[in-house]
Amino acid sequence: MIMADSNTNTTNCVVSGVGASPGIAIGRAFLLDRGKLKPRGEKIPSDRVAAETERFLRAVADARQELEEIKEKTLKSGGNEVSGQHNYILDVHLLMMKDKMLVDDTITLIKEKKINAEWALSLNTEKIINFFEQMQDAYLRERQSDVAHVSERILRHLTKSDYDSIDRISHGVIIVAHDLSPADTLQLNPQKVSAFVTDLGGRTSHTAIVARSLEIPAVVGTEYATEKINGGDRLVVDGIEGKIIVNPSREQLAAYQEKKKQYNTFQAQLILNCDLPAETTDGFRVALAGNIETPEETESIISHGASNIGLYRTEFLYLNRQTLPSEEEHFLTYKKVTESLPPESTTTIRTFDLGADKIASSEYFQEESINPALGLRGIRLCLNRQEIFVTQIRGILKASHYGKLKIMLPMVSGLKELRQAREIVEATKVELEREKVPFDAEIPVGIMIEVPSAAIISDQLAREADFFSIGTNDLIQYTLALDRSNEHVSYLYEPLHPAILRLLDQVISNARDAEIPVSICGEMAGEPIYTLVLLGLGLDKLSMNAISIPHIKQIIRQSTFVEARKMLEESLKMNTAIEVEAYVAKEMNQRFPETFLMKI
Ligand code: PEP
Ligand code: MG
Repeated sequence: MIMADSNTNTTNCVVSGVGASPGIAIGRAFLLDRGKLKPRGEKIPSDRVAAETERFLRAVADARQELEEIKEKTLKSGGNEVSGQHNYILDVHLLMMKDKMLVDDTITLIKEKKINAEWALSLNTEKIINFFEQMQDAYLRERQSDVAHVSERILRHLTKSDYDSIDRISHGVIIVAHDLSPADTLQLNPQKVSAFVTDLGGRTSHTAIVARSLEIPAVVGTEYATEKINGGDRLVVDGIEGKIIVNPSREQLAAYQEKKKQYNTFQAQLILNCDLPAETTDGFRVALAGNIETPEETESIISHGASNIGLYRTEFLYLNRQTLPSEEEHFLTYKKVTESLPPESTTTIRTFDLGADKIASSEYFQEESINPALGLRGIRLCLNRQEIFVTQIRGILKASHYGKLKIMLPMVSGLKELRQAREIVEATKVELEREKVPFDAEIPVGIMIEVPSAAIISDQLAREADFFSIGTNDLIQYTLALDRSNEHVSYLYEPLHPAILRLLDQVISNARDAEIPVSICGEMAGEPIYTLVLLGLGLDKLSMNAISIPHIKQIIRQSTFVEARKMLEESLKMNTAIEVEAYVAKEMNQRFPETFLMKI
């Protein structure tokens, strides 16, 4: 949303969006061309034809080499039916890269039309796809998607300089992009990127979550930032309030420099007490744990005052690469995580929750869906691709010999999925026993409660799961029917909606009745405004990103369980999200004015 100055002059313009990761950054804009590859069409002079042809042939050769390497790695990682099929597809793609229709015809277009290689390849791809589309035979018709994949791979090599530009970012820039995928965000180096701004995205999108993990201030869902901001513009990014000041005045700059100082002082003071227990003044203790996406983050979790990992999003192991992680890689990664924590710490390893906005290499996961959040993701994908799931389970079980691990299943919607997954875990244990590989035979197997059906039947699930962890990001997304990555519906993200509060209350009391531990690991757990309401629910654990831990701990340490309980009870009596929010905001403002002070 543009708040002021709706013409294209960007002097003193304020662009607003969703504050996705807190902090203030001041720096120059670096416009990043992210999104689907958009080839730049260009007419070329006759004397560039030879060089352009050469450039195209080099891109084809590089793409071929990349495919050969993928094929070799797949062969090395052992053959099974799926890798066999996969190699077959790779062979088809390799053949296509030699095909006259694809290669020679593109070169002819470069020569005859005097256009650059990207343009020629796109025109030629379109022609070949049309040709396949006309085919009667369904199998041949489907080959058009192979043509598109092969062409996209070559295109990526042609446009390498644009595509890899994240690596070439120099010191201290603020990235402004139409969109950043979680995989892109994971590659950002906080030493070089002081903040980022995107047109798309919501507060609980994985891009926002990764920004918080990396402690990079971010504003997402601005809709128009890339239109209003030019490369090199001076920016102030306010990740607390979700604002970007474009080319600020001297007064604005001074005000934000002051706010930045205040924020840093506030954070530094919180860190001082972060090793104290999260216990209310009337003696109610709740465990605070950390959420991580990469093993390196454990250090930050410890330095922010937690020693357990409540959610390890292992799907990030599968991103930004062409091959699947091997069993050994899984094993070494989880062993590294558990060994980098203090003894007796527990790490809850969530099996890969790929799908929706976390897309691994299309070589292995080729799902195209118009509704990916409701598609083949989480446990559905694990059960659908059991050979990949078993590889991960073997890695987890092996690592469980070196530290306390728990297995957590994502996106469970009913008992059948839980039972099937448990059977696989049990069968894998038998295999390891036979191989005389040591592992923790008692490793708990729990589930995320993040699909409304699972919350509704949580009494049944609680009898068969060893623990629950409530994923409020998805639970809110699916219950309130709002896409968590879509900026147009961010206003519907209402964690205090009566439907959500009732579901949380119900899940937690079902877990209590079955005497299994229950925690919350969605972003709601790390938002100070919700701390007392959640505390009132009587959870065992709250798991969150590292930067939220000290603040949440301070709030808990300055409260009583009795007042938290009262706040929850009052909230549960109310009829609308607006009423509950107004009530909770007023109460929290009175108790913790410093938390909500930082507005300009
Ligand atoms: C959730 O859905 O709340 C959750 C913690 O999982 P993710 O954010 O990775 O979907
Ligand atoms: Mg989830």
